[in-house]
Amino acid sequence: MTHVVVIGAGQAGASLVTRLRSRGFDGAITLIGDEPVPPYQRPPLSKKYLLGEMALERLYLRPGAAYAEAGIDLRTGTQATAIDRAAREVVLSGDERLGYDTLVLATGSRPRRLPAAIGGDLQGVHVVRTLADADAMAPGVVAGARVLIVGGGYIGLEAAAVAASRGMQVTLVEMADRILQRVAAPETADYFRALHARHGVDIREGVGLERLLGDGQVQSARLTDGSEIGVDMVIVGVGIVPDTALAEGAGLATDNGIAVDAQGRTDDPAIRAAGDCASFPYGGGRLRLESVPNAIDMAECVADNIMGLGQDYVPKPWFWSDQYDVKLQIAGLGAGHDRIVTRGAGGAVSFWYYAGDRLLAVDAMNDPRAYMVGKRLIEAGKSADPARVADPETDLKALLR
Ligand SMILES: Cc1cc2nc3c(=O)[nH]c(=O)nc-3n(C[C@H](O)[C@H](O)[C@H](O)COP(=O)(O)OP(=O)(O)OC[C@H]3O[C@@H](n4cnc5c(N)ncnc54)[C@H](O)[C@@H]3O)c2cc1C
Repeated sequence: MTHVVVIGAGQAGASLVTRLRSRGFDGAITLIGDEPVPPYQRPPLSKKYLLGEMALERLYLRPGAAYAEAGIDLRTGTQATAIDRAAREVVLSGDERLGYDTLVLATGSRPRRLPAAIGGDLQGVHVVRTLADADAMAPGVVAGARVLIVGGGYIGLEAAAVAASRGMQVTLVEMADRILQRVAAPETADYFRALHARHGVDIREGVGLERLLGDGQVQSARLTDGSEIGVDMVIVGVGIVPDTALAEGAGLATDNGIAVDAQGRTDDPAIRAAGDCASFPYGGGRLRLESVPNAIDMAECVADNIMGLGQDYVPKPWFWSDQYDVKLQIAGLGAGHDRIVTRGAGGAVSFWYYAGDRLLAVDAMNDPRAYMVGKRLIEAGKSADPARVADPETDLKALLR
């Protein structure tokens, strides 16, 4: 019987095995995950789950028993340590070997950590990637405690929102000139800076962390502007790196992630990759996305290709972030824009990214209609006249005609 082995029981791994069964794949499927729990959603870890507003069971993508019911051998708490490509076997922790016909790498990514040399190993210093990370930091998220957030990307800003909502004293440092520098236009950064200021978060841009100090437990932080602040907890959100360790150990090509072709194949035809860990051909170069929609869509495309469909993966990038009572929805990729068109103000506002007359992306704050219309235009390869977008009298839906 054909055996598909998937390494990484996260969003992509779970989506892939589910899709294989729903497409009628009747071979054996093994899903290997090193975390001790069934696949779960990560986004709530820096949002509702950390706030204590979401029960653990609701994090799981499917109840644990559903995998066995679908004939999927889910092996949690099991690490794949090597791939023996010649024998077509995966080596598991404990030296067990598992044969495969097709292997899929869905190993995700790992958070960058602060080096121990600057206090990164002190108690009270956290990253937020796994359920275990969120559970470890939750007891420290209490009113009055002082938290330093390192990094002004979406994870850092979401953690800041949770901490401020829980009554913590929050300082956020961002080494770059402004928050969200890598991922959003200045207009979006301005919006979120003002939002956090209204909630009492002290955002310091152009300021990095020099080192953390403490005797076992973190007690203070020295910043690059020479200041020193007292802290009870530190949350580090300074980006992630694709988990390519297994692929590299097996001699597979990597290029900002495990390099796959348009159909999700690595340079070994028996091995594919999907999700955060994979970089795929895009616009003459390579792209790697770190998002749930990408993990699901790419995994489903790879599953379909294992079933012989032979289709290329065409990403339809979208993303979201929740901070306080603001829902940010993003459609498209803004890189390469030369201007921003603003629609709306105050409560519901959206920023439209253009390169010339071509619409690239939309950031919509509490404006699901702007997001939907922008997404449909971008996915159809269409644009909208910027003057009409900016005009509050324009009915957004009319832009689709
Ligand atoms: C706090 C947080 C908030 C987020 N918020 C959003 C959001 O709002 N919107 C959004 O679109 N995206 C968000 N993301 C990103 C999104 O969660 C990821 O893009 C998505 O989880 C990627 O799925 P994946 O399956 O590729 O990787 P992962 O979900 O990381 O799964 C990979 C799994 O593989 C396991 N693994 C790795 N190596 C091995 C091995 N050798 N053996 C066994 N198992 C292994 C890992 O432990 C992990 O469990 C967020 C992420 C985090 C951490």
